[in-house]
Amino acid sequence: MDRITDIFGGDFSAVKTKRSFLLLIVLCLLTAVLYPQFTEAASTYYKSSAVIFANGQKLSLERQPVNVNGRVLVPARTVFSKLGARIDWYSSNGKVHVVTGNKKVELQMGSSSISVNGLSTKMDTYPVLVSGTVMVPLRQVAEALGAELKVSGSNIDIVFRGGPQQDGKMQGYKVVIDAGHGGSNPGAVVGKTTEASLNLDIAKRLNGLLTKEGITTYMTREKNVDVGLYDRSGLANKVNADLLISIHNNTHSNTSISGSMSLYYPSSSKTNGKLTSKGFASIVQNKLTGTLGTKDLGIIERTNLAVLRTANMPAVIAEVAYMTNSKELAKLNTSEYRQSAAQALRDAIIEALNKI
Ligand SMILES: [Zn+2]
Repeated sequence: MDRITDIFGGDFSAVKTKRSFLLLIVLCLLTAVLYPQFTEAASTYYKSSAVIFANGQKLSLERQPVNVNGRVLVPARTVFSKLGARIDWYSSNGKVHVVTGNKKVELQMGSSSISVNGLSTKMDTYPVLVSGTVMVPLRQVAEALGAELKVSGSNIDIVFRGGPQQDGKMQGYKVVIDAGHGGSNPGAVVGKTTEASLNLDIAKRLNGLLTKEGITTYMTREKNVDVGLYDRSGLANKVNADLLISIHNNTHSNTSISGSMSLYYPSSSKTNGKLTSKGFASIVQNKLTGTLGTKDLGIIERTNLAVLRTANMPAVIAEVAYMTNSKELAKLNTSEYRQSAAQALRDAIIEALNKI
Protein backbone atom coordinates (compact mmCIF):
# COMPACT_ATOMS: atom_id res chain seq x y z
CA MET A 1 0.00 0.00 0.00
CA ASP A 2 2.87 2.36 0.77
CA ARG A 3 4.33 1.96 -2.67
CA ILE A 4 1.04 2.82 -4.33
CA THR A 5 0.70 5.97 -2.26
CA ASP A 6 4.23 6.88 -3.25
CA ILE A 7 3.44 6.56 -6.96
CA PHE A 8 0.69 9.14 -6.60
CA GLY A 9 2.65 11.39 -4.31
CA GLY A 10 0.37 10.72 -1.36
CA ASP A 11 -1.97 13.60 -2.24
CA PHE A 12 -4.55 12.62 -4.82
CA SER A 13 -8.12 13.27 -5.83
CA ALA A 14 -11.02 10.83 -5.57
CA VAL A 15 -10.47 9.76 -9.18
CA LYS A 16 -6.79 9.06 -8.54
CA THR A 17 -7.70 7.12 -5.38
CA LYS A 18 -10.00 4.91 -7.44
CA ARG A 19 -7.26 4.46 -10.03
CA SER A 20 -4.66 3.68 -7.43
CA PHE A 21 -7.03 1.15 -5.88
CA LEU A 22 -7.44 -0.57 -9.26
CA LEU A 23 -3.69 -0.49 -9.77
CA LEU A 24 -3.24 -2.09 -6.37
CA ILE A 25 -5.62 -4.91 -7.28
CA VAL A 26 -3.79 -5.47 -10.59
CA LEU A 27 -0.46 -5.54 -8.77
CA CYS A 28 -1.80 -7.99 -6.20
CA LEU A 29 -3.10 -10.30 -8.93
CA LEU A 30 0.20 -10.07 -10.80
CA THR A 31 2.10 -10.93 -7.62
CA ALA A 32 -0.13 -13.95 -7.06
CA VAL A 33 0.43 -15.18 -10.61
CA LEU A 34 4.16 -14.49 -10.73
CA TYR A 35 4.96 -15.94 -7.33
CA PRO A 36 3.52 -19.35 -6.50
CA GLN A 37 2.88 -20.24 -2.88
CA PHE A 38 6.43 -21.41 -2.26
CA THR A 39 9.70 -21.21 -4.07
CA GLU A 40 13.02 -22.46 -2.80
CA ALA A 41 16.01 -22.51 -5.12
CA ALA A 42 14.86 -23.60 -8.59
CA SER A 43 12.03 -25.83 -7.39
CA THR A 44 8.37 -24.90 -7.57
CA TYR A 45 5.92 -26.52 -5.26
CA TYR A 46 2.46 -25.91 -3.89
CA LYS A 47 0.71 -26.61 -0.64
CA SER A 48 -1.05 -29.95 -0.54
CA SER A 49 -4.06 -30.73 1.61
CA ALA A 50 -3.08 -34.42 1.83
CA VAL A 51 -3.45 -36.08 5.23
CA ILE A 52 -1.04 -38.98 5.64
CA PHE A 53 -1.76 -42.22 7.49
CA ALA A 54 0.45 -45.24 8.13
CA ASN A 55 -1.51 -48.49 8.44
CA GLY A 56 -4.60 -46.48 9.33
CA GLN A 57 -2.90 -44.35 11.96
CA LYS A 58 -2.77 -40.62 11.24
CA LEU A 59 0.79 -39.26 11.19
CA SER A 60 1.64 -35.95 12.77
CA LEU A 61 4.05 -34.28 10.36
CA GLU A 62 6.45 -31.45 11.12
CA ARG A 63 5.64 -30.00 7.71
CA GLN A 64 2.50 -30.13 5.56
CA PRO A 65 2.89 -32.20 2.36
CA VAL A 66 3.48 -30.29 -0.87
CA ASN A 67 2.66 -30.87 -4.52
CA VAL A 68 5.18 -30.99 -7.34
CA ASN A 69 3.71 -31.66 -10.79
CA GLY A 70 0.52 -32.83 -9.09
CA ARG A 71 2.34 -35.47 -7.00
CA VAL A 72 2.28 -35.45 -3.21
CA LEU A 73 5.62 -35.01 -1.46
CA VAL A 74 6.02 -35.75 2.26
CA PRO A 75 8.72 -35.13 4.91
CA ALA A 76 11.04 -38.07 4.22
CA ARG A 77 12.21 -38.76 7.74
CA THR A 78 8.93 -38.65 9.61
CA VAL A 79 6.97 -40.67 7.09
CA PHE A 80 9.47 -43.33 6.05
CA SER A 81 10.88 -43.97 9.50
CA LYS A 82 7.35 -45.36 10.07
CA LEU A 83 8.19 -48.07 7.54
CA GLY A 84 11.34 -48.87 9.48
CA ALA A 85 13.53 -46.96 7.03
CA ARG A 86 16.62 -44.93 7.78
CA ILE A 87 16.99 -41.61 5.99
CA ASP A 88 20.47 -40.41 5.01
CA TRP A 89 20.51 -36.80 3.90
CA TYR A 90 23.58 -35.29 2.27
CA SER A 91 23.07 -31.55 2.33
CA SER A 92 26.32 -30.89 0.45
CA ASN A 93 25.13 -32.52 -2.79
CA GLY A 94 21.36 -32.71 -2.25
CA LYS A 95 21.19 -36.52 -2.24
CA VAL A 96 18.80 -38.41 0.00
CA HIS A 97 18.81 -42.17 0.60
CA VAL A 98 15.90 -44.08 2.10
CA VAL A 99 17.29 -47.36 3.38
CA THR A 100 15.65 -50.49 4.82
CA GLY A 101 17.05 -53.98 5.46
CA ASN A 102 16.76 -54.97 1.81
CA LYS A 103 15.99 -51.75 -0.11
CA LYS A 104 18.03 -48.67 -0.93
CA VAL A 105 16.16 -45.84 -2.62
CA GLU A 106 18.33 -43.00 -3.91
CA LEU A 107 16.96 -39.59 -4.82
CA GLN A 108 18.38 -36.19 -5.60
CA MET A 109 16.84 -32.78 -4.86
CA GLY A 110 15.30 -31.31 -8.04
CA SER A 111 15.99 -34.48 -10.07
CA SER A 112 13.35 -36.84 -11.47
CA SER A 113 15.67 -39.87 -11.24
CA ILE A 114 14.93 -42.53 -8.66
CA SER A 115 17.21 -45.49 -8.08
CA VAL A 116 15.98 -48.59 -6.25
CA ASN A 117 18.73 -51.05 -5.34
CA GLY A 118 20.86 -49.52 -8.10
CA LEU A 119 18.17 -49.67 -10.82
CA SER A 120 17.40 -46.17 -12.05
CA THR A 121 14.06 -44.94 -13.46
CA LYS A 122 12.39 -41.57 -14.05
CA MET A 123 9.54 -40.04 -12.06
CA ASP A 124 7.14 -37.33 -13.24
CA THR A 125 8.06 -35.33 -10.15
CA TYR A 126 11.13 -34.65 -8.02
CA PRO A 127 12.14 -34.16 -4.37
CA VAL A 128 12.43 -30.65 -2.96
CA LEU A 129 13.75 -28.99 0.15
CA VAL A 130 11.10 -26.93 1.97
CA SER A 131 12.55 -24.66 4.64
CA GLY A 132 15.15 -27.27 5.48
CA THR A 133 12.81 -30.29 5.39
CA VAL A 134 13.60 -32.99 2.83
CA MET A 135 10.35 -33.71 0.96
CA VAL A 136 10.18 -36.80 -1.28
CA PRO A 137 7.51 -38.17 -3.64
CA LEU A 138 5.26 -40.31 -1.46
CA ARG A 139 4.00 -42.86 -3.97
CA GLN A 140 7.31 -43.59 -5.66
CA VAL A 141 9.25 -44.06 -2.43
CA ALA A 142 6.47 -45.96 -0.62
CA GLU A 143 6.04 -48.39 -3.52
CA ALA A 144 9.78 -48.81 -3.86
CA LEU A 145 9.81 -49.93 -0.22
CA GLY A 146 7.00 -52.43 -0.91
CA ALA A 147 4.11 -50.43 0.57
CA GLU A 148 0.80 -49.58 -1.13
CA LEU A 149 -1.16 -46.35 -1.04
CA LYS A 150 -4.89 -46.25 -0.33
CA VAL A 151 -6.27 -42.87 -1.35
CA SER A 152 -9.63 -41.56 -0.18
CA GLY A 153 -10.21 -37.87 -0.91
CA SER A 154 -7.28 -36.04 0.64
CA ASN A 155 -6.52 -38.96 3.00
CA ILE A 156 -3.62 -41.15 1.92
CA ASP A 157 -2.93 -44.33 3.87
CA ILE A 158 0.42 -46.06 3.46
CA VAL A 159 -0.31 -49.74 3.87
CA PHE A 160 2.58 -52.04 4.59
CA ARG A 161 3.18 -55.48 6.01
CA GLY A 162 6.09 -56.17 8.34
CA GLY A 163 9.06 -53.92 8.90
CA PRO A 164 7.44 -50.89 10.52
CA GLN A 165 8.59 -49.70 13.86
CA GLN A 166 5.91 -50.52 16.35
CA ASP A 167 5.12 -47.63 18.61
CA GLY A 168 5.07 -48.25 22.31
CA LYS A 169 7.14 -51.44 22.35
CA MET A 170 9.59 -50.00 24.94
CA GLN A 171 6.99 -49.32 27.62
CA GLY A 172 8.12 -49.52 31.23
CA TYR A 173 11.56 -47.94 30.75
CA LYS A 174 12.51 -44.54 32.17
CA VAL A 175 15.14 -42.30 30.57
CA VAL A 176 16.35 -38.88 31.71
CA ILE A 177 17.42 -36.54 28.90
CA ASP A 178 19.75 -33.77 29.95
CA ALA A 179 20.29 -30.82 27.59
CA GLY A 180 23.69 -29.51 28.68
CA HIS A 181 24.06 -25.92 29.96
CA GLY A 182 21.20 -23.38 29.67
CA GLY A 183 20.10 -20.04 31.12
CA SER A 184 23.04 -17.95 32.28
CA ASN A 185 25.40 -20.72 31.09
CA PRO A 186 25.26 -20.92 27.28
CA GLY A 187 28.13 -23.44 27.09
CA ALA A 188 30.24 -22.88 23.99
CA VAL A 189 29.33 -19.88 21.83
CA VAL A 190 30.50 -19.76 18.22
CA GLY A 191 29.15 -16.90 16.10
CA LYS A 192 25.42 -16.75 16.74
CA THR A 193 25.17 -20.37 17.86
CA THR A 194 25.11 -21.32 21.52
CA GLU A 195 25.79 -24.85 22.63
CA ALA A 196 22.87 -24.64 25.10
CA SER A 197 20.39 -24.09 22.25
CA LEU A 198 21.82 -26.89 20.07
CA ASN A 199 21.77 -29.28 23.02
CA LEU A 200 18.18 -28.37 23.87
CA ASP A 201 16.97 -28.78 20.29
CA ILE A 202 18.51 -32.26 20.00
CA ALA A 203 17.16 -33.13 23.47
CA LYS A 204 13.62 -32.16 22.48
CA ARG A 205 13.82 -34.17 19.27
CA LEU A 206 15.13 -37.17 21.23
CA ASN A 207 12.32 -36.73 23.73
CA GLY A 208 9.75 -36.96 20.93
CA LEU A 209 11.39 -40.07 19.46
CA LEU A 210 11.66 -41.89 22.79
CA THR A 211 8.08 -41.02 23.75
CA LYS A 212 6.95 -42.61 20.47
CA GLU A 213 8.68 -45.82 21.54
CA GLY A 214 6.62 -45.85 24.72
CA ILE A 215 9.59 -44.90 26.91
CA THR A 216 8.82 -42.65 29.90
CA THR A 217 11.08 -39.62 29.58
CA TYR A 218 12.11 -36.79 31.87
CA MET A 219 13.93 -33.70 30.65
CA THR A 220 16.21 -31.79 33.02
CA ARG A 221 15.17 -28.63 31.18
CA GLU A 222 12.70 -27.85 28.39
CA LYS A 223 13.62 -24.19 28.03
CA ASN A 224 16.67 -21.97 28.13
CA VAL A 225 16.93 -21.98 31.94
CA ASP A 226 19.62 -22.64 34.53
CA VAL A 227 19.76 -26.16 35.96
CA GLY A 228 22.21 -27.05 38.74
CA LEU A 229 24.82 -29.72 37.97
CA TYR A 230 23.54 -31.95 40.77
CA ASP A 231 19.89 -31.38 39.81
CA ARG A 232 20.56 -33.16 36.53
CA SER A 233 21.72 -36.47 38.01
CA GLY A 234 19.44 -35.72 40.97
CA LEU A 235 16.37 -35.98 38.73
CA ALA A 236 17.61 -39.27 37.28
CA ASN A 237 18.22 -40.69 40.76
CA LYS A 238 14.88 -39.43 42.07
CA VAL A 239 12.80 -41.06 39.32
CA ASN A 240 15.03 -44.16 39.40
CA ALA A 241 15.79 -43.81 35.69
CA ASP A 242 17.20 -46.72 33.69
CA LEU A 243 19.55 -44.43 31.76
CA LEU A 244 20.78 -40.84 31.81
CA ILE A 245 21.89 -39.25 28.56
CA SER A 246 23.44 -35.79 28.66
CA ILE A 247 23.70 -33.95 25.33
CA HIS A 248 26.61 -31.61 24.59
CA ASN A 249 28.65 -30.25 21.71
CA ASN A 250 32.38 -29.81 21.74
CA THR A 251 34.93 -27.07 21.09
CA HIS A 252 38.68 -26.99 20.54
CA SER A 253 41.17 -24.22 19.91
CA ASN A 254 42.30 -26.24 16.88
CA THR A 255 39.43 -25.69 14.44
CA SER A 256 40.43 -28.65 12.26
CA ILE A 257 39.42 -31.07 15.03
CA SER A 258 36.03 -32.69 14.43
CA GLY A 259 34.07 -35.76 15.45
CA SER A 260 31.95 -37.35 18.16
CA MET A 261 32.97 -38.64 21.59
CA SER A 262 31.11 -40.24 24.48
CA LEU A 263 32.12 -39.69 28.10
CA TYR A 264 31.39 -41.98 31.05
CA TYR A 265 32.34 -42.46 34.69
CA PRO A 266 34.21 -45.73 35.20
CA SER A 267 32.47 -47.47 38.07
CA SER A 268 30.71 -50.79 38.47
CA SER A 269 28.16 -49.01 40.69
CA LYS A 270 26.70 -47.31 37.62
CA THR A 271 25.23 -50.48 36.15
CA ASN A 272 21.70 -51.47 35.31
CA GLY A 273 21.31 -55.23 34.94
CA LYS A 274 24.05 -56.24 32.52
CA LEU A 275 24.63 -52.72 31.22
CA THR A 276 27.54 -50.60 32.49
CA SER A 277 28.18 -46.91 31.82
CA LYS A 278 31.09 -47.99 29.64
CA GLY A 279 28.84 -50.33 27.67
CA PHE A 280 26.27 -47.56 27.25
CA ALA A 281 29.02 -45.16 26.10
CA SER A 282 30.20 -47.66 23.45
CA ILE A 283 26.68 -48.03 22.09
CA VAL A 284 26.14 -44.24 21.99
CA GLN A 285 29.49 -43.73 20.30
CA ASN A 286 28.76 -46.38 17.62
CA LYS A 287 25.36 -44.94 16.82
CA LEU A 288 26.56 -41.32 16.69
CA THR A 289 29.49 -42.00 14.38
CA GLY A 290 27.51 -44.53 12.33
CA THR A 291 24.48 -42.30 11.79
CA LEU A 292 26.20 -38.92 11.46
CA GLY A 293 29.34 -40.14 9.69
CA THR A 294 31.43 -38.22 12.22
CA LYS A 295 35.01 -39.08 13.08
CA ASP A 296 35.18 -41.59 15.95
CA LEU A 297 37.03 -39.91 18.80
CA GLY A 298 36.19 -42.81 21.07
CA ILE A 299 34.72 -43.34 24.53
CA ILE A 300 36.52 -41.48 27.28
CA GLU A 301 36.66 -42.06 31.03
CA ARG A 302 35.94 -38.92 33.02
CA THR A 303 35.94 -38.94 36.81
CA ASN A 304 35.54 -35.18 37.32
CA LEU A 305 32.11 -34.62 35.80
CA ALA A 306 29.37 -34.26 38.41
CA VAL A 307 26.52 -35.35 36.17
CA LEU A 308 28.24 -38.69 35.49
CA ARG A 309 29.79 -39.23 38.91
CA THR A 310 26.63 -38.70 40.95
CA ALA A 311 24.21 -40.65 38.75
CA ASN A 312 23.19 -44.07 40.09
CA MET A 313 22.61 -45.62 36.67
CA PRO A 314 24.49 -45.92 33.35
CA ALA A 315 25.08 -42.30 32.33
CA VAL A 316 26.78 -40.88 29.26
CA ILE A 317 27.67 -37.41 28.03
CA ALA A 318 27.32 -37.44 24.25
CA GLU A 319 29.54 -34.82 22.63
CA VAL A 320 27.78 -34.82 19.26
CA ALA A 321 30.16 -32.72 17.13
CA TYR A 322 32.57 -29.78 17.19
CA MET A 323 31.14 -26.28 17.07
CA THR A 324 34.61 -24.87 16.44
CA ASN A 325 34.90 -26.89 13.21
CA SER A 326 33.15 -24.84 10.52
CA LYS A 327 31.87 -27.89 8.60
CA GLU A 328 30.37 -29.50 11.69
CA LEU A 329 28.91 -26.19 12.90
CA ALA A 330 27.19 -25.70 9.53
CA LYS A 331 25.69 -29.19 9.86
CA LEU A 332 24.67 -28.64 13.49
CA ASN A 333 22.82 -25.54 12.34
CA THR A 334 20.50 -27.66 10.13
CA SER A 335 17.41 -29.33 11.56
CA GLU A 336 18.13 -32.48 9.48
CA TYR A 337 21.43 -33.00 11.24
CA ARG A 338 20.02 -32.38 14.70
CA GLN A 339 17.21 -34.82 13.90
CA SER A 340 19.80 -37.40 12.79
CA ALA A 341 21.70 -36.86 16.03
CA ALA A 342 18.48 -37.41 17.98
CA GLN A 343 17.76 -40.58 15.97
CA ALA A 344 21.26 -41.87 16.65
CA LEU A 345 20.71 -41.32 20.38
CA ARG A 346 17.26 -42.94 20.21
CA ASP A 347 18.73 -46.01 18.51
CA ALA A 348 21.51 -46.12 21.11
CA ILE A 349 19.06 -45.90 24.00
CA ILE A 350 16.87 -48.67 22.59
CA GLU A 351 19.90 -50.92 22.09
CA ALA A 352 21.15 -50.11 25.60
CA LEU A 353 17.74 -50.75 27.21
CA ASN A 354 17.57 -54.11 25.45
CA LYS A 355 20.90 -55.05 27.08
CA ILE A 356 19.71 -54.36 30.64
ZN1 LIG B 1 28.90 -28.68 26.98
